[in-house]
Amino acid sequence: MPAEPQLFYVILAAIFGLLFGSFLNVCIYRLPRDLSVVAPRSFCPECGVQIAWYDNLPLVSYAILRGRCRYCDKPIGIRYFLVELTTAVLFALTVSEYGPTLPALKWAVFDAIMVALFWTDFEERILPDELTIGGILAGLIFSVFVSVPGFSEIWISGPATRSRSFTDAVIGGLILSIPIWALGWAYGRLRKRDALGLGDVKLLAAMGAFLGLENGLFALLLGAVTGSVLGLAYILWKRKDAASYELPFGSFLCFGAVIAPLIGRR
Ligand SMILES: [Zn+2]
Repeated sequence: MPAEPQLFYVILAAIFGLLFGSFLNVCIYRLPRDLSVVAPRSFCPECGVQIAWYDNLPLVSYAILRGRCRYCDKPIGIRYFLVELTTAVLFALTVSEYGPTLPALKWAVFDAIMVALFWTDFEERILPDELTIGGILAGLIFSVFVSVPGFSEIWISGPATRSRSFTDAVIGGLILSIPIWALGWAYGRLRKRDALGLGDVKLLAAMGAFLGLENGLFALLLGAVTGSVLGLAYILWKRKDAASYELPFGSFLCFGAVIAPLIGRR
């Protein structure tokens, strides 16, 4: 009996994910360019013609137009399709795990932020403050309502409380970001160039605030390992100069941040 309402919510989450993914695509293009994400309506980045609603349906329009603009025929990035698809899948996974609850909302918000940051870093090597600092704030606010796992019980006794969860979110954010910031700073001094942007540090703080320390470290490790392997393979394959080529490290962190809690829960 309860299986059916559950499926209903999962499908609803997937549909909402498609629509929200469409909005994330707008954010991914506009935030790094300091454009408003509310106005004007969607336009083709190539020819500037405003996109009609029937050409703006998630997944469907991309398939019908075969990934090309109706007016100028220039290709539309596969990213538009992928973002809508991944957001829908992640929202559906979250709701199938938690049902229509506050924890589901928390993880849907987190996944959406990570999807957007993955692509802004991948395409522009930019991690916009709206998403990183916004993510830190969202993580801290959610920690008051959805328990963040951590170690603060060692010195804050008693049952799991809101203040303990909040403390664990703060600790997660600080311990994940400060040492990396210090390492990057020291490396930058030694090599006279920026190894790690402040954007990465803010992204790590947001990850820690949502995930807590343990899962946060797991996500960092996962992102660093995948990033090193894929990055090295790409540099060798494309014969890029390893000393000057800038890897989208933030993208790998976002990948780890989304995958780590999925594995961690199992
Ligand atoms: Zn066009």
